[in-house]
Amino acid sequence: MSDSVVAQILDVLDSAKVFEGDDIPERYFHDEALGVPPQRPLCVVVVRSVHEVSAVLRVALEANVAVVPRGSGTGLAGGATPLAGAIVLSTELMNSIVEIDQENFTATVEAGVTLAQLDEALKALGFVYPVFPGELGSTLGGNVATNAGGMRAVKYGVTRHQVLGTEFVLMNGTIVKSGGKYVKSTSGYDLTQLIIGSEGTLGVVTQAILRIYPRPKHTVSLLAAFVSPDEPTSCVPELVNSENLPLVLEFMDAAGLYAMANRVKVDLGMSGSVMEAAQSYLLVMLEGSKWDELSLQREEIAQTLTSRGAIECYFLTQKQGEDLLLARESAFWVSKEAGANDILDTVVPRSELAGFLKVAKELAMRTNSYISGAGHIGDGNIHFSIFQPDPSLLDEVEEEIFRYALSIGGAVSAEHGIGIAKRQHLYDTEDSDKLELMSRIKLAFDPKWLLNPGKILR
Ligand SMILES: Cc1cc2nc3c(=O)[nH]c(=O)nc-3n(C[C@H](O)[C@H](O)[C@H](O)COP(=O)(O)OP(=O)(O)OC[C@H]3O[C@@H](n4cnc5c(N)ncnc54)[C@H](O)[C@@H]3O)c2cc1C
Repeated sequence: MSDSVVAQILDVLDSAKVFEGDDIPERYFHDEALGVPPQRPLCVVVVRSVHEVSAVLRVALEANVAVVPRGSGTGLAGGATPLAGAIVLSTELMNSIVEIDQENFTATVEAGVTLAQLDEALKALGFVYPVFPGELGSTLGGNVATNAGGMRAVKYGVTRHQVLGTEFVLMNGTIVKSGGKYVKSTSGYDLTQLIIGSEGTLGVVTQAILRIYPRPKHTVSLLAAFVSPDEPTSCVPELVNSENLPLVLEFMDAAGLYAMANRVKVDLGMSGSVMEAAQSYLLVMLEGSKWDELSLQREEIAQTLTSRGAIECYFLTQKQGEDLLLARESAFWVSKEAGANDILDTVVPRSELAGFLKVAKELAMRTNSYISGAGHIGDGNIHFSIFQPDPSLLDEVEEEIFRYALSIGGAVSAEHGIGIAKRQHLYDTEDSDKLELMSRIKLAFDPKWLLNPGKILR
């Protein structure tokens, strides 16, 4: 049966690469989610066109075989982790930038274009696509499927806010185009928004139309040190309402910052006494076209932060700012190398951040766990790296964090997605009527439940 499926797939393809059996490279067995076991699939099909996507899906549907869509495999929820006996359908080689439209301020890309590739092309023309999740090797198809966020979401929102249209393929092979190079539409249900964040469970994304912006000329950064872990939270409302909304507003606890800075060897010029006293830091980055204005705004922000308890504000050089951003992007690897058992990306209303940090601290003490926080404080989205090797205690810690977050109006995942890693927690904490409605939407798109089954929904 499995041999015949692979044979049929080979039969309908022009140029796609197919790996099967022992020839399947190990990287396709997993994504980057911690704690999700790797799995060998039936085969991996690396497609090159929307028609190949459609043909593979039709064969799979006919044979009743599950399909797991995949971009670069940098996801943190196990969404691209294969299922036994499934076909992994990789869009990594659908990597053409179809068009950069300088009049409509849009870029149309195939799903396999990486963020780094797009940024390079846009930079040459003086534009930027402003969504920057911490992994530039990720694909735009993966970003759309996970509704990726990242450090600049505080200013530009997440993928959802920057995608105007998509092309995607249903499990029965039907090619659907939604949205377009226009900025508003009230023409029926918004399928683009439904596909964004659906984690490969509703359709395989083959193209996306993205908003692009003129690339600002300058950035300035400052790093503020605080003696208590939750003091930075009180600065957030004022900063996100300031005249020049920060491009980046990131929280790091002291241990996390020192480990990240050490990893990328950035010297931030901090004094020993500050490092001894500080328990948390806030990184603020502004962008604009006029250097003088930016410098002035940075000084005003430093005054605000000092009045709210910062013991020191370091004005970083361009190089230090860029290096610190790189350091912050390495947070996942720092935590992984240090032995973190899981990383949560729970989101809460900004006004609840101080209480959320306090609950996490008390929980860590009570369960003898270590919880390190770093992340997008401006979005109410501080990531927790949890060090707790006992699986049942780890589960208890996570459950309590999710329950508390939901009780104060938050959600299980802000940007990494549910995948398989957080599915049980979603079921344990979410409204069952809402989950039932999601299941009915899934059935409308994929009646035989073959596209990335078991991800998000049971
Ligand atoms: C170091 C590091 C830092 C990160 N920082 C951030 C961050 O700041 N913010 C953030 O949001 N994420 C972050 N991530 C997570 C990850 O980069 C994003 O989730 C990214 O969007 C995944 O893209 P990908 O191409 O690797 O997708 P994959 O991992 O291959 O897949 C992710 C999900 O999308 C589905 N999928 C992939 N391609 C398609 C397609 N063409 N059609 C339909 N479904 C598809 C998969 O089935 C899976 O469910 C980080 C990851 C790492 C390793």
